[in-house]
Amino acid sequence: MDMVIATHNAKKRAELARILQPLGHNILDIALPEVDETGSTFVENARLKAVAGCEASGLPCIADDSGLCVDALNGAPGVYSARYAGEHGNDAANNAKILADLHDSSVRIARFVCAICCVFPDGREIVAEGTCEGSIGHKLEGEDGFGYDPLFLPAEAPGKTMAQLSAEQKDAISHRGRAMEIFVKKLEGF
Ligand code: IMP
Repeated sequence: MDMVIATHNAKKRAELARILQPLGHNILDIALPEVDETGSTFVENARLKAVAGCEASGLPCIADDSGLCVDALNGAPGVYSARYAGEHGNDAANNAKILADLHDSSVRIARFVCAICCVFPDGREIVAEGTCEGSIGHKLEGEDGFGYDPLFLPAEAPGKTMAQLSAEQKDAISHRGRAMEIFVKKLEGF
């Protein structure tokens, strides 16, 4: 199926494409509009982006909205993950703010959450969600991935941050990998 991915984050796009392309889906590169993420949930924001991308391209459009939820920060940064420290997409500043906000707190439980929404030109949609449980480390470690990966210790990869995992290892346990697994199953029966 020809599809477009509604994201301006190249690393997120690569994660979605490397799951969809082996399944025979053709990801087209079409410039899509910037969308204000005004929703209060990940699903609402994913839908806003997918609807806008589908209307602009005339093709099925997949969008992801995702983020980090830290228990000791009452679920923050949540839907504000990309701009937690103020400037959109400043990963270094966002990570520094998480470390500062948590100080030396021993309660560091957190999870990544991902909502995938695909909107089709006939108005139908598929929604799928995935989570990855873990905790926040005391320092940045690892070079791979993006965003909060160097701070996030997935429960299923003891002693490693998400940024120390290979692409395959991350996809197998990540919020996005899990949401995509559910999404792909729903797409098969569509
Ligand atoms: P969005 O583009 O509004 O969905 O922003 C998502 C933000 O959440 C990103 O800018 C990252 O800060 C964070 N995030 C989402 N998924 C991941 C991930 O897989 N690893 C690390 N950070 C992530």
